[in-house]
Amino acid sequence: MNRHFMKVLENKTADPYCVLRVERPPAFDFLAGQFVMIRRKEDPLCDRRAFSIASSPLETGHLEFFIKKVDAGAVSPRLYTAQQGDVLELSGPFGKFVLSDVSAGDEKGVCLIGAGSGLAPLLSMLRTLVLQKYPGRIHLIHSTRKARDLLYRQELERYAATLPLVSYTQYVSREVVSGCLQGRIDLQQIEIKHPDAVLAYVCGPPALVDDIVAALKKRGLSEDAIKTERYD
Ligand SMILES: Cc1cc2nc3c(=O)[nH]c(=O)nc-3n(C[C@H](O)[C@H](O)[C@H](O)COP(=O)(O)OP(=O)(O)OC[C@H]3O[C@@H](n4cnc5c(N)ncnc54)[C@H](O)[C@@H]3O)c2cc1C
Repeated sequence: MNRHFMKVLENKTADPYCVLRVERPPAFDFLAGQFVMIRRKEDPLCDRRAFSIASSPLETGHLEFFIKKVDAGAVSPRLYTAQQGDVLELSGPFGKFVLSDVSAGDEKGVCLIGAGSGLAPLLSMLRTLVLQKYPGRIHLIHSTRKARDLLYRQELERYAATLPLVSYTQYVSREVVSGCLQGRIDLQQIEIKHPDAVLAYVCGPPALVDDIVAALKKRGLSEDAIKTERYD
């Protein structure tokens, strides 16, 4: 197994989420959507957990993670409080929830749908597609609970404002937030004009992913066109 000991570069927190930037190990390759196992090196009580990489493989110098602090959790609170210079043990990459079906010359539309920290692997995919100048349509749909959870809103709005093929829909379930839709993801809002020409990537809590998959199938997407990652 590939194990790497890497320093934390930056940790931006907005309770209960944090955006953690870590040095990228030398010659560390991964595919957009994959995850690594992380633990804090200097903390013997810290177990390992899976965290999706939110940065793109095309970005050099750092790996980024979007982590939700689970209050009674064994690992996420320890990552939430990680400081610049702390050392993390990373192993991997792992996972088959990857963007491998989309290549530069492929003009299929891509729909990325996630809830909470389920945004992390989708962000890696979106950033990769943007950097690759992917020529098809990309629709990112994200749901979260509160305004304070919208750590990536500016970046996502910038893509949607500057790139004509990118659209971004944000749902917030527990507050009314200007510019966001209120409530849970409404699948009728997903633009699927030609189901054969759309790939969907769905990530979030298992029950939500199941509901979204069922709705996408009803709207004509085949099983093969829907990729999922389930975690709370
Ligand atoms: C492939 C994969 C990728 C993942 N990527 C990410 C990621 O990018 N970002 C991220 O934040 N997490 C991600 N996770 C989840 C992560 O691995 C941990 O499960 C999560 O951080 C909780 O770990 P913990 O040790 O803090 O809590 P634990 O000690 O494992 O759990 C403590 C208690 O909290 C409950 N619990 C666990 N998670 C949640 C939750 N989210 N909300 C409420 N209760 C919970 C558990 O059921 C348990 O009762 C991923 C999981 C997988 C399998």
